[in-house]
Amino acid sequence: MTPIQVLHLIKTKKIEYVDCRFMDFPGLWQHVMYPAKDLVQESFVEGFGFDGSAVRGWEAINEEDKIIVPVSDTAQIDPFMKAKTLAMICDVKDPVTKKRFSRDPRSVARKAEAYLRDSEVADEARFGPELEFFVFDRVRFDQGINYGIYEVDSVEGIWNRGKDDDGNKGYQVRQREGYFPCAPIDTLIDMRCEMVSMLSEAGIKVMEHHHEVATGGQAEIDLGAMGLTDMADAIMFAKHYIKNIAAKHGKTATFMPKPLFGDNGSGMHTHLSLWKGGENLMNGHHYGGLSKLGVWAIGGILKHTNSLCAFTNPTTNSYKRLVPGFEAPVNVTYSSRNRTATIRIPQYSNDPLRKRLEFRCPDSSCNPYLAFAATTMAMIDGIKNQIEPGEPMDKPMETLLPEEQMLIDQVPRDLSDALTALEEDHAYLLQGNVFTEDVIRYWIKYKREMEIGALSTRPHPYEFCMYFDN
Ligand code: GLU
Ligand code: MG
Ligand code: MG
Repeated sequence: MTPIQVLHLIKTKKIEYVDCRFMDFPGLWQHVMYPAKDLVQESFVEGFGFDGSAVRGWEAINEEDKIIVPVSDTAQIDPFMKAKTLAMICDVKDPVTKKRFSRDPRSVARKAEAYLRDSEVADEARFGPELEFFVFDRVRFDQGINYGIYEVDSVEGIWNRGKDDDGNKGYQVRQREGYFPCAPIDTLIDMRCEMVSMLSEAGIKVMEHHHEVATGGQAEIDLGAMGLTDMADAIMFAKHYIKNIAAKHGKTATFMPKPLFGDNGSGMHTHLSLWKGGENLMNGHHYGGLSKLGVWAIGGILKHTNSLCAFTNPTTNSYKRLVPGFEAPVNVTYSSRNRTATIRIPQYSNDPLRKRLEFRCPDSSCNPYLAFAATTMAMIDGIKNQIEPGEPMDKPMETLLPEEQMLIDQVPRDLSDALTALEEDHAYLLQGNVFTEDVIRYWIKYKREMEIGALSTRPHPYEFCMYFDN
């Protein structure tokens, strides 16, 4: 939609408010609302002024005054507001120079797209994320379920027993057998369909949706591939719609990577392809039907997996998912089969247009602008420097001898390890000034102080379990 079309829509649909949205540094959507009559054609250049110092991750900057500039292409009528509201994603810019603010995640994403084109590696990188999330009846932090105090086989019972007025329907998702049973075992069908219909109406293509493996109500909605910034924008709308539809039904949707101890977590496996002149550059005759460029892209991602994880798996909770036994990736290797590998090359189709890598590390607690930008930079590094990824690992991991297993690198054990890796390995992110030193340094500082530090100084409910009666 052009600015003129947006203004026309506001008139014809009698829109009362425009809701300007932007991403804070860690990755939560923020918004400011303006009366719709205040949006004029100049607003798409001049933006709206706001004080950036109140936004997480931007506190310590000198020039706090910023403008948010709505991007007309992203306009969506938000059906969850009582007043008629048009939502638009904004770029964050300097009020005087109109330059993009370097800590605005969307600015990093835009720069990564430009760098990809300028380096002549490809015209476009496409991203197809699989959004996994849990839908809970309610979340009672005081019960300690979320901390793994209860064994997992009692979790479903606890969730269901919470619904006093619902009676006992006798059907339950069996422990870690959620994937595929039809209704009435899959209790989330109607809600998922509602979510998917809303995404389709918003122009976000959905490939498929289904219940996921875990015991509690775990769902998956897979999005059709799009370019870097467009997809990051789409993810933000998708999470917003998914959370709000769940809330409308009196439930809670959470994208937290590992809410239940002892059960599968929620990832955001991301399908990656690179395109030039309408051709999918991943397709070829090397391993898994990949091109040499595709093999080098794997080389780049594997070389930088540990530092990449600081962006693709950026929370303390992310690493509770990346453990053996739950189909989450733990081995820094690639394979056309093995689901414990960080990169899989799906073999579902021989269509050259569908050839892609599946990067299995990311989870939805990431800031998708930063995570996708960093992943693009790792692929460019691999391709430009012709980084060979070594041999694939197709043997089932359980059949490996201990000495074979020892040769395979593991993903970072926790957020602290990932941040240390980022501290040591980020030259590839600075190319083309895509990530600045300031962005990297502040990301590390923010995560160490505001998340790792905040958690480590608080008594944890599981500590009560272990130590209370000492
Ligand atoms: N939920 C799993 C994960 O954490 C993956 C299950 C699947 O293969 O879709 O990555
Ligand atoms: Mg899945
Ligand atoms: Mg997958």
